[in-house]
Amino acid sequence: MNSKSNIIYDSIIIGAGPAGLAASIYASRYGLKHLIIGVLKGGTATEAFIVENYPGFKSISGNELMQKFIEHVKQYNPEIISTEVSSIKKQKKYFEIKTELNKIFKTKTIILALGVHHRTLSVIGEKKFLGKGISYCYTCDGPLFKNKIVGVIGGGDGALTAALFLSKHAKKVYLIHRRKEFRGQVAWQNSVDKEKKIIKILQRQIKEIRGDKFVKEVILDFPYKTKKSLKIDGLFIEIGTLPSGAKIIFKSPLNLKRDKLNYIVTDRSMQTNIPGIFAAGDITSPPEKLRQILTASAEGSIAAVSVQRFLVKRG
Ligand code: NAP
Repeated sequence: MNSKSNIIYDSIIIGAGPAGLAASIYASRYGLKHLIIGVLKGGTATEAFIVENYPGFKSISGNELMQKFIEHVKQYNPEIISTEVSSIKKQKKYFEIKTELNKIFKTKTIILALGVHHRTLSVIGEKKFLGKGISYCYTCDGPLFKNKIVGVIGGGDGALTAALFLSKHAKKVYLIHRRKEFRGQVAWQNSVDKEKKIIKILQRQIKEIRGDKFVKEVILDFPYKTKKSLKIDGLFIEIGTLPSGAKIIFKSPLNLKRDKLNYIVTDRSMQTNIPGIFAAGDITSPPEKLRQILTASAEGSIAAVSVQRFLVKRG
């Protein structure tokens, strides 16, 4: 049975990563009555083992930085519920947000800050060996591969930082990338070059992942030093991300404007094509934009201020 609250919030923020948390801090400071729907953990930013480009912190783990965001948010005591949103419905003067527990919340505006999830490689063996050597989270699973041989696939900051983290645990790390050049930050590339345990394998793709109970080897598209396969105990897939929130955004009758990869299109004030719905952080278009904790939190803050201006304008 549905249970409907009579409160009408100024804004409901969906998502509790850097964008959602920064939006909440700004919403609190602008006196907006708001609710955060999301797990108060910090999003995928918590998976970064080291962040060295967030101003004010020379070097900090993603998890530690997000704990600092959460402490800051909590200082203003916003309402927070840890559940998932199942649908959003537009009424005449407000939106209705229904959660998995069939609770319905009313709000004048929404900030979508759902973030992204890991992209999959889509090769034979990937699904079969998930959790049996295949992982998308090096900080979670990396320490299990002490003195083992692991592979990392990808060429961005995700893959470079994963290789560096894994080199602290594993005996050998193959860093496999499909191009001649990495696209990640030069600072990470320099650190990778200094780490003897990391072996770079460039201009190669993985065609198949094989094993028995656990991963045993990957098959390459072209031989590396005459070998068509590499013996490994684990493979970390770090090939980028795709926007989250398929259920509520893509299947809702709202007709939210998205680009061809499903990132939400906004203007510079983070307003979507639907008046009253804003979006912020990694979930917003364009796909090639800089996706960092800093940029996500900046977008969250802009969205919250835009909500305040929207409400003032609407009277
Ligand atoms: P990314 O920057 O989009 O890089 C994805 C990499 O995977 C690219 O090199 C891409 O190759 C490769 N790739 C994509 N699809 C592939 C496929 N099917 N097979 C093989 N390779 C494939 O993603 P990311 O590294 O996850 O980073 C995402 C964002 O988070 C970035 O903005 C990044 O700066 C940020 N981040 C920051 C940190 C940090 O600073 N601590 C850590 C992690 C992530 P091509 O180069 O050929 O396109």
